[in-house]
Parts: sequence; structure tokens; C-alpha cells
Amino acid sequence: MRGMLVYELIIIGGGPAGMTAAVYAARKRKKALMVMKEFGGQPMWTMDIENYMGYQFVTGPELMDKFDEQVKKFPIEKRKIFFFLDAHYTQPRK
Ligand SMILES: Cc1cc2nc3c(=O)[nH]c(=O)nc-3n(C[C@H](O)[C@H](O)[C@H](O)COP(=O)(O)OP(=O)(O)OC[C@H]3O[C@@H](n4cnc5c(N)ncnc54)[C@H](O)[C@@H]3O)c2cc1C
Repeated sequence: MRGMLVYELIIIGGGPAGMTAAVYAARKRKKALMVMKEFGGQPMWTMDIENYMGYQFVTGPELMDKFDEQVKKFPIEKRKIFFFLDAHYTQPRK
């Protein structure tokens, strides 16, 4: 597999869940790749978050910048993707 990139984990999504998963994986020394359509996810659309403990008030983009700062402390590869990766779940036939 010369020249081929091999990851132990691919995280789909660069919102709070994806970034949290990426840091968790990196702390466990997993070679992880995070792919996303848009950095930051839904918090990027809100200017007032008042229920994230430790912050009495923070805007979504500010909070996601703090998350990103933490992600950058680890060797986590990030890639923005421009195509849809949407998966459809089909109930298996019985
Ligand atoms: C306007 C607004 C205000 C909010 N305010 C609050 C608040 O004050 N307090 C609070 O607790 N919660 C709030 N929320 C909810 C909170 O933002 C979500 O619960 C949280 O963002 C969920 O995080 P997540 O990482 O699971 O998903 P998301 O934030 O939705 O992130 C999804 C990530 O996956 C990527 N993605 C999606 N589909 C694909 C695909 N097919 N292929 C690749 N990547 C993909 C997206 O680009 C994104 O990076 C608010 C939401 C909105 C919209």
C-alpha cells in the first residue's frame, strides 16, 4: 500500500460532535481523518449560546474557534469535502 493513506478512523462532520470525537481519537493515538462539508456545524449560525457550561455567554463561531484550537493541538487531519456523502439506511428484509 505504498503511497496510500491509511486511517484507523474517519470522522464525518466538523461540528461539536466531530471535533470532540477527533480529540478523543487522537488522545487514544488513533490515526484519524475528519471530513466535513462545513467547519463548525450548526453553532456557526447562532450568536448567543448561554447553556455551554464554563461560558456564561459565547457566540457559536467563538465557541467553535475554541474547539478548533483544541483540535489543532493534536495531529488530526481535516479535509473539507465538496460532494455529498449522504448515506441512506435501508431496513434489511426479514
Ligand atoms: C440557530 C441554532 C442555534 C442553536 N443554539 C444552541 C444553543 O444555544 N445551545 C445548544 O446547546 N445548542 C444549540 N443549537 C444546537 C447545536 O448547534 C447542535 O445540537 C449541535 O451543533 C450538534 O452538533 P453535531 O456536531 O452533532 O452536528 P452539527 O453541528 O450539525 O455538525 C454537522 C457536521 O457534519 C457536516 N456534515 C453534514 N452532513 C454531511 C455529509 N453528508 N458529509 C460530510 N459532512 C457532513 C457538517 O458540515 C458539519 O460540519 C443550535 C442550533 C442552531 C441551528
